[in-house]
Amino acid sequence: MDWSQKDETYLMSTYKRLPVAIDKAEGNYLYDTNGKSYLDLFTGLAVSVVGHSHPKILAALREQGEKFLHISNIFLNKPAIQLAEKLIEQSIPGKVFFGNSGAEATEAAIKLIHKWSKQQGKESLGITVLSNSFHGRTLGAVKLTRQAHVYQDFPTPGYDVFEVAPGDITQLKKVIEQEKPSALIMEPVLGSGGVIPLSVEYLEAAYQLCQEHQVLFVMDEIQTGMGRTGKMFAYQHAQVQPDLIMFAKGAGGGLPLGGIIAGEQLMNLFQPGDHGTTFAPSPLSAALGNAVMEILLQDGLLEQGKLQAEYLWQQISGLLEQFPASLTDIRGKGMMIGIQTKLSPEEVSQIQRDMLEAGILIDVTQKTIIRLLPPLTLKTDEIDQFIKQLHTAIHLVEERKGVIS
Ligand SMILES: *Cc1c(COP(=O)(O)O)cnc(C)c1O
Repeated sequence: MDWSQKDETYLMSTYKRLPVAIDKAEGNYLYDTNGKSYLDLFTGLAVSVVGHSHPKILAALREQGEKFLHISNIFLNKPAIQLAEKLIEQSIPGKVFFGNSGAEATEAAIKLIHKWSKQQGKESLGITVLSNSFHGRTLGAVKLTRQAHVYQDFPTPGYDVFEVAPGDITQLKKVIEQEKPSALIMEPVLGSGGVIPLSVEYLEAAYQLCQEHQVLFVMDEIQTGMGRTGKMFAYQHAQVQPDLIMFAKGAGGGLPLGGIIAGEQLMNLFQPGDHGTTFAPSPLSAALGNAVMEILLQDGLLEQGKLQAEYLWQQISGLLEQFPASLTDIRGKGMMIGIQTKLSPEEVSQIQRDMLEAGILIDVTQKTIIRLLPPLTLKTDEIDQFIKQLHTAIHLVEERKGVIS
C-alpha cells in the first residue's frame, strides 16, 4: 500500500488531502518522500511564520527538549512566563492564559466573557460575531463560527450569538443597542471566510461602539497574529485597544500553542478551578514561542516580512491586470492574501494541482479564492518564481477556455 491508501485506511477523512507525503521541511520548502521540493506558500495554515527548521527554533527545541518536555501547572513554568511577558509587552496590559490550540483559545474566551457578564450583572451572555467568521470547531467555538458547512447541525451551548455583516457599522450599532451583547468577537482579517480585511474605519467605529455600550471588544488574532499582517497583531493597524485577544497558529513556532491575552478588567477573573488543561502551556511550545518572538523582533523578521509582502502584492496586482477575465481582486493584509478568481471551482483546483506539479504549494478557500499564507521569510526570487508559475497556470486555463488563443 502507498501512503495515500494507508491514509484512507487508517485516518478519518476530516480533511481533503493532497497525495503528497512530506519527509522534510527546511526554510521555505517542503520535501516529499520522492525528494521533490515545494515552495510552501501555505505554512500549515499560517503556522510556520518563520519558515521551517529555523536554526533558532531548532536550538530552542534542543535546549528545552533536553531539560524537560512536560511539568505540570502546579510548578512555575519559566519558558511560559517569559513568553507571556513578551506577548503582553507586544499587545495590551493584562495577563495570559495558555491553551494548546485556537479552538481552546476561543473556549477560554467564551468562559471568561461569561464570568465577566455575571460579574457585571448582565442577564445573559450574548456574543456578536461576523457573518462568515471562523473561531474554531469545538462545540462552544463552532457556535461563533458563522459558516453553515462548519456548524451544520452539531449541538452547541445555549448562549446567544448575534450575527452581523462584516463592515456594516449601522447593523452593528443596531444589534449592540437592541441585544446588549457582552462581547463583540472579530477576526481583523477574516481568514477561512474568504480573506476579508476589516477597514481601519470599521474597526475604530466598532471599538467606539463597544466602549460606549460596555461591550467587550475581542480580537481573534489566531491567524492574523504573530506578525502575519505586518504588525505583531493585526488590530494594531487601527487605533483600538482590545479587551481580549485570542492567539494560536504561529505562536508555538510549529508546536501546538494557543491562548488568550486578557486586559485589565478581565485578567483576574479566572480563579483556581475555573479553567485549565493538562498540557498547556507546554514548556517546549513556549520555548519555541520565545524563539519566534526573538526572530520577529530582534532579528527584524517582522519588518522584513512586511516589505516582502509589499513586493508580493505588487507582483500579484500585475497578474490581475494581465488576466482580468480570470482574476478580479486581491485582498487581505501583509502575508495573508486572497486572490479572488472568476473561475469555476474545478478550474481553481486545476491551478492548484498545476502549481503543485511545478513545486509550489498554494491553498484554495471558499472554492474560488486562491489563498496564500507565506512565511515571513519569503524571498524575492521565490516570489518571482511563484508569479511566473501562476501566470503559466492561469494562461493554461484561459487557453483551454478559448479566452486566449
Ligand atoms: C484556525 C483558526 C481558529 C481555530 O484554531 P485551531 O487551532 O484550528 O483550533 C480560530 N480562529 C481563527 C481566526 C483561525 O484562523
